[in-house]
Amino acid sequence: MPYIEVICIIKKVKLGQQISTDEYTFEFSIGENQDIKEEIKNRLSIDGITKIIDINIKSIKIVPSCSGCRSDQPNQLAHMDYGGCLYSE
Ligand SMILES: [Zn+2]
Repeated sequence: MPYIEVICIIKKVKLGQQISTDEYTFEFSIGENQDIKEEIKNRLSIDGITKIIDINIKSIKIVPSCSGCRSDQPNQLAHMDYGGCLYSE
């Protein structure tokens, strides 16, 4: 199954410390009706003294589960591995 890759810049601050800005990558399954920003907050294990200031989503893309598609292989064989779009039992 393809999945969604979300890259975001998260600005957060820990009580009494400087603001930190970090880039995070999250993976989401496709099909659920989800609030991505809420979901990101849930996944960041934030302790009681850290506050999220801003979540800035940089990119959202659908990533195919097929490794041949991911690397844009023209060769059919590359798409026939387990999980590939041309895979058959
Ligand atoms: Zn493929």
